[in-house]
Amino acid sequence: MRNPLFCLLPPLFLSSSLILAGNLTSKSLTLKNVHGLRMAWVDPFASTMVHEDFVADVSDPEVVPTVLPEMSTPMRLVPNGRGYFRGGVQVTYIDGSPADGVPVRFEVKAVNNVDPARHLPTLASQYPSSTRNKFLQRVAAGQIKLLGTLAQERVRTDARGIATFEYTVSHMGGNQSQPALEQVVARIPTGKQLSWDVEIGYDLVPVPTVTGGVRIYGAKGKHIHPDLAEFITDLGEAVAAEPSWSIPVTITAAALRWGGLYPPHFTHMMGGSFDFRPMSTDGQPTRAETDGSHAPNYDRARTLTLIRIFFGAGAQVVYFNDPEGWTYGAKPLAGHSNHLHVSWLGQQAQLSARLPESLRLADGEES
Ligand SMILES: [Zn+2]
Repeated sequence: MRNPLFCLLPPLFLSSSLILAGNLTSKSLTLKNVHGLRMAWVDPFASTMVHEDFVADVSDPEVVPTVLPEMSTPMRLVPNGRGYFRGGVQVTYIDGSPADGVPVRFEVKAVNNVDPARHLPTLASQYPSSTRNKFLQRVAAGQIKLLGTLAQERVRTDARGIATFEYTVSHMGGNQSQPALEQVVARIPTGKQLSWDVEIGYDLVPVPTVTGGVRIYGAKGKHIHPDLAEFITDLGEAVAAEPSWSIPVTITAAALRWGGLYPPHFTHMMGGSFDFRPMSTDGQPTRAETDGSHAPNYDRARTLTLIRIFFGAGAQVVYFNDPEGWTYGAKPLAGHSNHLHVSWLGQQAQLSARLPESLRLADGEES
């Protein structure tokens, strides 16, 4: 009998090193035993295997499922381009004996957050001409990943009938309602295939707004790390309560709902940073240049106060082009005359935002 029978096991995060016992020169397959093959996901590194049957059609030997039931527990990773997991499939004959030397083809597919979110020309067009090549070069070099990758795509089963894979996550979180979804698909020559879901996203929350204190304006990415959201609420309430501050802080970009790549930015992926406008005297956009000049409505004193508050609250980096800001730790960067970039992402990616102690301007800074 040639009964397709699929068994599933979740791949696991592994601390052990990958040991492949594959025998690539093992017996060739005849058509007959190829048709008798069945395939199951396994954790090839676990000492015991617990199978959970999910398809077992024993009545019709010709039936090969074309749409596979979803596995119960998708893998969840964050879109940092580095997280990975290892798993495998086990291929056996009808009698349960392992099928050695079967070629298994692994592939990664994007299920949602696909078009135009991963369309390279569309993404590139969202970067200004000054940084478009840098974006394209990083994609070409694999430093920005629009799809998860596999260490190997073609693997033969070993003496246990097992072929292993190693999946590394993409940078695609996205702005849709559900986390980004990719699948690792395994196929054997009979045409049978299995797929394993990988959900991708950070658990971010909406950027809070406070009337008269903090607003978000013109941003596609309106989400942020929960700890930073708490800090922004505190800041907004302090600004709203301070009589000398009549203009709210204006945030212009945070992170997408699930984090990850957010054109035209190269950062803003983890919810640990945001952009905001320099403070102005009239609430309108303003700017300050590296030569010390600035727009007439630029409110230097309050902008510098915010820089001090953010560093005091554990920010790691502030980019802004007003030289007066550099004395407080801000650094100049091309494109940062009309907005400030502030980031809480240190080497440990720890957020340590705290309530500002005071919004009052320092002596000599009243404007
Ligand atoms: Zn920024």
